[in-house]
Amino acid sequence: MASVGLTNVRKSYGALQVVHDISLSVDDGEFIALVGPSGCGKSTLLRMIAGLEDISDGEVTIGGTVVNAMTPRERNIAMVFQSYALYPHMTVGENMGFNLKLAGVTKPDIATRVGEAARMLALEDLLDRKPSQLSGGQRQRVAMGRAIVRDPAVFLFDEPLSNLDAKLRVQMRTEIKALHQKVGTTSIYVTHDQIEAMTLADRIVVLNAGRIEQVGTPMELYRTPANLFVAGFIGSPA
Ligand code: ADP
Ligand code: MG
Repeated sequence: MASVGLTNVRKSYGALQVVHDISLSVDDGEFIALVGPSGCGKSTLLRMIAGLEDISDGEVTIGGTVVNAMTPRERNIAMVFQSYALYPHMTVGENMGFNLKLAGVTKPDIATRVGEAARMLALEDLLDRKPSQLSGGQRQRVAMGRAIVRDPAVFLFDEPLSNLDAKLRVQMRTEIKALHQKVGTTSIYVTHDQIEAMTLADRIVVLNAGRIEQVGTPMELYRTPANLFVAGFIGSPA
């Protein structure tokens, strides 16, 4: 587990600046929801924290260490996307253990860690199946399992449930919440679903056109939105 810090982080693609001077402190163990309309820079911000995208300016810290020059692997973060590309030819268990294998973890250790993650996510009975034999929700759980086994310092989620139907989304939301209560890993969760943000997050960050409009607990944003944009997005009656 680790805190995450952003200081005056900027991102430009050529002449187009898509992230403007973002500063944010995420506490160790905190669950942050990052919300805002399509194109406002949510994925870009996550990818900069993950090390998948260069930072044009500013500083990112994980656990107090500046990580700007570190590779994604060195940052010890795990990212869960909406398209949870599992390897089709591998079983669930092999999919979950694959990153550990790459990292040189021994077979018995992989088995132990995959077993623990499978128990946590109720995947024990599915470990020998192929992804094609799973439902959408089960696949998403495997994708999370693959992230959990690495015991990352930080989880980054990019709209992980947006491909699932409404009923499954509610179920998975509950599972993600339970998982966070169990393992307590610092999490930054991008969503455009305000109910997801309100139910999961300790604090919500509202982003608009690459800038932070407001940061606060779900109740703070609901009761005292900083402006009409936040009110409109959170759905409060301001
Ligand atoms: P969100 O995840 O909030 O929908 P993104 O972070 O994906 O937004 O994108 C923010 C802005 O940056 C958008 O205007 C998008 O078109 C632009 N953008 C994202 N990636 C690139 C890229 N590789 N090259 C140029 N522009 C990009
Ligand atoms: Mg995005």
